[in-house]
Amino acid sequence: MNPTTEPSVDFPVAASVRPESTDALVDVLREHAAGARPVRLCGAGSQLRALPAPSADTAPTLVSSAALDRLLRLDPDDLTCSVEPGLRLADLATALREHRLCLPCPPAGATTVGGLFAAGRSLPEAPGALGARHLLLGLSGVLGEGLRFKSGARVVKSVAGFDLQKVFVGSRGRLFAATELHLKLRPLPAAVVGFESPREAADPALRRWRALRRASQPPASLHLEGDPCQGFVVRGVLAGPQRVLDRVCREHGLEPKAAEPTPAWTLDRDVPGEQVRGERLLGAVRPSRADELLQGLSPDERIRLDGAGGFAIATANPGRTDQLLQWIVELDAVAEIAIASTDRRGRCTPTDPTAGLLETALRKALDPHQVLR
Ligand SMILES: Cc1cc2nc3c(=O)[nH]c(=O)nc-3n(C[C@H](O)[C@H](O)[C@H](O)COP(=O)(O)OP(=O)(O)OC[C@H]3O[C@@H](n4cnc5c(N)ncnc54)[C@H](O)[C@@H]3O)c2cc1C
Repeated sequence: MNPTTEPSVDFPVAASVRPESTDALVDVLREHAAGARPVRLCGAGSQLRALPAPSADTAPTLVSSAALDRLLRLDPDDLTCSVEPGLRLADLATALREHRLCLPCPPAGATTVGGLFAAGRSLPEAPGALGARHLLLGLSGVLGEGLRFKSGARVVKSVAGFDLQKVFVGSRGRLFAATELHLKLRPLPAAVVGFESPREAADPALRRWRALRRASQPPASLHLEGDPCQGFVVRGVLAGPQRVLDRVCREHGLEPKAAEPTPAWTLDRDVPGEQVRGERLLGAVRPSRADELLQGLSPDERIRLDGAGGFAIATANPGRTDQLLQWIVELDAVAEIAIASTDRRGRCTPTDPTAGLLETALRKALDPHQVLR
């Protein structure tokens, strides 16, 4: 069972509830829709301070699906499972390990499966790795007005209707509440080793990062991390048959070491209790333009660049963040302010107008009374 700590938020909320069953969740949504009262959905709440806050005049009820935390079905032969959205990623990983299976996504401990897919920030961490959209086969959900529905399927090969589960990824709790998720799994790799390069200047670090991206067996996770002043390290995890990993290590001059947990994606320094200073930008750049991104950083600006081009940048102040956002557009890249005060979170590089229209139309169709904020 999940611990019952209340999610911590930095915006006003009217109340905080944690329905113990799908029926109870449906009732909560129906009551709120009938009373025109807004709701903010959440899981464990780890992202609530890193996603856009509700508008200043809205104090929603926080509705957490963390108590809906059952593993409902596991089919090891079919490499699929079905879970409730509040199941913690760590608990799912433990259950799957018994069958030598895994959900290939960044390990994120006490956070929930529903939150992982709805936050939609899990880009593949290396070339060829699966993204969140590929891992979600289908779902059951509830609209803001309390109406239940199903989308997609439990199995890998299916042509079952409109793929509403695809728009769940990245919907940030604004389209509907997921109540059951059908997931595609992968076998656990035969062997796993970590690696970490010496700290070096941007050019050699980028050469190493590119060479590893092109490796015959690219790393399962690959990160370049550091700042122009202190230099950069390239670290990650190789997964696969031991003899292949030995060969990749030899070819790239890597010293194998124990695989370590993925470093904090928010780029917070690893000091308990230390406040995040400045702001954090999250984005994605074409790997071919990653060198320009690094060249544009000020000496003390830290970056974490994933193997597929996802990045986080720690900036010192809002003015600098805005400057970087403008410049990122010139690189044909995208970014969003993820960690900042509530009035600044969610500011981003211009979105594609057609995608914007589609998002507005979907919201209007699925949540016409604007219950989900
Ligand atoms: C140590 C650590 C490392 C991490 N590393 C990475 C990383 O490398 N890359 C990365 O991309 N992410 C990373 N994350 C983020 C994290 O994996 C996910 O975003 C996380 O799983 C969110 O779970 P949560 O339960 O805290 O979600 P919450 O913060 O509660 O919610 C996240 C979003 O999902 C929505 N939501 C939650 N449940 C539902 C539901 N049932 N129906 C509809 N909407 C819902 C909420 O409205 C919100 O918009 C990391 C997190 C941690 C703690």
